[in-house]
Amino acid sequence: MAFEVFTKMASPSALFHHQYGYNSTLLSTMTPTSLHAPFYHLTDPKHIAIASSKTFNLLCPIVVYWVVCSLWHHLDTAKYPYFEKRRIHESPEVLARNKVTFMDVIKAVFFQHCIQLVLGWMWFEDTNVILEREFYADHIAKMSSLVPWVADGTLLLLGRRTGEQVLYKHGEKLVAWIYWWGIPLVQMYFAFWVTDTWQYFWHRAMHNNRFLYRHFHSHHHRLYVPFAFGALYNHPVEGFILDSLGSAVAEKMALMTMSQATLLFTISSIKTADDHCGYKLWWDPCQLLFANNADYHDVHHQAFGIKSNFSQPYFTNWDKILGTQMSREEADSKTRWKKLGHEYAEHDKHNVILESRAKKVD
Ligand SMILES: [Zn+2]
Ligand SMILES: [Zn+2]
Repeated sequence: MAFEVFTKMASPSALFHHQYGYNSTLLSTMTPTSLHAPFYHLTDPKHIAIASSKTFNLLCPIVVYWVVCSLWHHLDTAKYPYFEKRRIHESPEVLARNKVTFMDVIKAVFFQHCIQLVLGWMWFEDTNVILEREFYADHIAKMSSLVPWVADGTLLLLGRRTGEQVLYKHGEKLVAWIYWWGIPLVQMYFAFWVTDTWQYFWHRAMHNNRFLYRHFHSHHHRLYVPFAFGALYNHPVEGFILDSLGSAVAEKMALMTMSQATLLFTISSIKTADDHCGYKLWWDPCQLLFANNADYHDVHHQAFGIKSNFSQPYFTNWDKILGTQMSREEADSKTRWKKLGHEYAEHDKHNVILESRAKKVD
């Protein structure tokens, strides 16, 4: 992994003065002498050739989207009792309430992915650059540059005595873990947060600005009862701004490698499809791990919730902070009121007819 920012910061010319990092014996014990490579680090040249290719990295999130959505679509059509019971809306509602057909959605998503491929081809670096920088990088040297930082952090946290004991015993493994897992996890979390921030403000603007809503975002809201393939049923301009540009900004800001970016885009594809799947499944990882899930986003697709739940696709923070959140309970109470209102209207209509009949008799 190429964590350029950390290697630069850890260089001798770094501004930060390593307070505890002077103990050369400790530092040399902690310095990795082997790769400590995790399962995801490829060593077979054949696998490396595939993983570093621009085509693979571009196609991966797209292929995964079609596979995952096809599975959701299978559940929609197969109507297994277990899943039918867990639908957010009744199946016939899809046909009755949505303003676009399934085929319209498929064509629009295909078009969207074609644009994404062209843009990605221009945006992504060439295979050779990726290969040299990410796969044949000197990982041991990069890990070694983290050593003074890990030493400082541990000693600050645990105190000199306990810290040194821990570092003498586990220092090398700790450095390797931070390099292969700790930093990539933080980068991924940060990229989620950037994606969310980008999407929240653009999404909200798309609703608040009449021009943006009418010409672009209203396309997505033709789906009142979302289904997985409809996740990317967007106007191409919205697809470019919210999805393509948002992802590019997130991966750049999180200083990701090509492999990390591909993983981020693939997770985003799975998550956005899941948010539109139309089922409430407690064991589904996307629904289990995130409060922003299919049920949460479904509220936004309803007429009464369209000015709420703008946050997508990972967290609900921006809705909470800016007061645009609507819970399922609130949504249900609004549906109940609407139903009650409808019943009263029917009741009143019936009374008027009865009264007019009574007057005629009189
Ligand atoms: Zn919307
Ligand atoms: Zn949606």
